[in-house]
Amino acid sequence: MTKRMERILIIEDEEKIARFVELELAYEGYDVEKAFNGRDGLALASTRPFDLVLLDILLPGLNGMEVLRRIRKTSDLPVIMLTARDAVVDKVTGLDGGADDYITKPFAIEELLARIRAVLRKKRDPHHLSGQALLQAGPIKLDPDKREVQVHGSPLDLTKREFDLLHFLLANKNIVLSRETLLQEIWGYDFAGGTNAVDVYIRYLRAKVEEPIGLKLIHTVRGVGYVIKDEQP
Ligand code: CA
Repeated sequence: MTKRMERILIIEDEEKIARFVELELAYEGYDVEKAFNGRDGLALASTRPFDLVLLDILLPGLNGMEVLRRIRKTSDLPVIMLTARDAVVDKVTGLDGGADDYITKPFAIEELLARIRAVLRKKRDPHHLSGQALLQAGPIKLDPDKREVQVHGSPLDLTKREFDLLHFLLANKNIVLSRETLLQEIWGYDFAGGTNAVDVYIRYLRAKVEEPIGLKLIHTVRGVGYVIKDEQP
């Protein structure tokens, strides 16, 4: 049996971006439709079956937040918001409004693809929808509810920042995360310290989590950022 193509709707008024993303997604095997304004997008989303929506926030007519609000009235269709850089309000209201994820423009297409795969994976496996499943890489286990980390069954004492960083890495296991993304996720948009902070905290994590037992699961991707995997390099 052939696998059904997953259908993605792009709602984005910048036609160049919409076309570029459409091409990339089609190349990856997704069935793609696009709308250049909020009203057309909402109409498409409510009349045809999609697996996921990429929704720009700044749209003419009906803005992205309003489109999201109306979609959420009737459906839990996964939505990834496209936000402008530094728009911390967008990010917060987007996630509060029921978006599944967001990505900051300009974005690397690889990161968008990874986020799409992650959201679709959660949709296929509803167990993850709570977002509170136990996370694991090799012998590292993290319990988001209890905010506990264990390595080989022994509890580890991490600061809040270290925990949040490890949590985010594990929640995106096997996905390469840029320093910028980590900075925005863990430190927030208004943090002025620069991406150096990410490298510093990765060193702290390695020292606390990995080095005592000779593990190496947090991989450095030169020039990009970091990824956590089950395997050592
Ligand atoms: Ca726009």
